[in-house]
Amino acid sequence: MQIVEETGADTEQDLTTFEEMESEVQSYARAFPVIFDKAEGAVIYDQTGARYIDFLAGAGSLNYGHNNPILRDALLEYIGRGGITHSLDLHTVAKEAFLSRLGENIFTPRDMDYVVQFTGPTGTNAVEAALKLARNVTGRQNVISFTNGFHGVSVGAMAATGNSHHRDAAGLLLTGATSMPFDNYLGDKLDTIEYLDAMLSDPSSGLDLPAAAIVETVQGEGGLNVASFTWLQRLEKVCRAHDMLLIIDDIQAGCGRTGTFFSFDNAGISPDIVTLSKSLSGFGLPFAVTLIKPEYDKWKPGEHNGTFRGNNHAFVTAEKAISHYWSDDSFCNEIARKGDYLAQRLQEIVDRHGKERLMAKGRGMMRGIECGNGDIAGAISNCAFENNMIIETSGSEDQVVKCLPPLTITDAELDEGLDILDKAVGQVMRELGRKAA
Ligand SMILES: *Cc1c(COP(=O)(O)O)cnc(C)c1O
Repeated sequence: MQIVEETGADTEQDLTTFEEMESEVQSYARAFPVIFDKAEGAVIYDQTGARYIDFLAGAGSLNYGHNNPILRDALLEYIGRGGITHSLDLHTVAKEAFLSRLGENIFTPRDMDYVVQFTGPTGTNAVEAALKLARNVTGRQNVISFTNGFHGVSVGAMAATGNSHHRDAAGLLLTGATSMPFDNYLGDKLDTIEYLDAMLSDPSSGLDLPAAAIVETVQGEGGLNVASFTWLQRLEKVCRAHDMLLIIDDIQAGCGRTGTFFSFDNAGISPDIVTLSKSLSGFGLPFAVTLIKPEYDKWKPGEHNGTFRGNNHAFVTAEKAISHYWSDDSFCNEIARKGDYLAQRLQEIVDRHGKERLMAKGRGMMRGIECGNGDIAGAISNCAFENNMIIETSGSEDQVVKCLPPLTITDAELDEGLDILDKAVGQVMRELGRKAA
């Protein structure tokens, strides 16, 4: 039995049930070994009532906060009136409302033309659909993915994922994707788009012509690496030149995380396929879609299906989230303001505690601190937890401390979290300095 004493929890918590009954595959639960019970906005409580500021927020699935009352009220009303919960891909009033709102508030103002594919309710299933469709449309099997990219843990998506920890778990050969260097992978030493273009242009490069390139504009699990808008524009040009589709995996960076609804809104590109999930429902309900330019919508009925494509509760909260937060620019402006503040505070933390080793990185409200190695980042996360904050690490070596607070976090809570982070980074860096001395 593991008794937790050194955390923010007021009393010991008995984890026996989880230890006896739950698989070893648990991950986040190991970093935060208490039993959570309630949550509101950017705050989560464990069963003893201890309060934590949540900078993990469902790994980016809770952009509008835990139990957002606007979304909750809409959902309670829908359930109360006997609204349909499960509908496969049948037409429902809730789905119609979601589609209309998405068209009106998101597609029309951006002059976007996409059809919506409802996939199985996980991000990885939306990615599978995107990759399958690109292969079917082009008749090519290979796909270009990028170093440190993460697209999910089903086999097709994993083939396009960089991380060996995930890849090794597949237990079979992961084929159909070729990894290419992401923006700035080798610093100034290599223009990665020039390299990609050269490989694609040379029939003797050994690179099979791909159906598509799949990319995140900011790599979430890969360590908050940011692709510049110029790089994305050049990638799009290369895709066009070689008759490849451009797939933007906006599952983590989308739904406002970087400051705009799509992370590529101001990038001057027009992806052929876009995947969305995580914060799409807004309420933490499972929901994923694949957006497809109409000319590539070559699916035959039922070719890609899934029992839970019709999660109407998610349609209800997604519609509400889009109508409430994305009807005008006010939410964008709020994210921009908080994102700038987050950037400024992270830079101050880095400057104060270890400019030589630490580096602030990211875009919008998707930012963090590169710590050089996973031990330091892990120690910072642990120390923050002892001070009642939930914050995780990402990157190839888990070396990046990652801030993903709800976009709706209040200024006071944002400061509270950043003060705890400041203290944690200071403590870990001082201990490191003492050990080195
Ligand atoms: C989380 C994530 C996925 C996978 O989503 P799941 O719901 O975990 O399957 C895919 N792509 C990106 C960019 C993600 O962040």
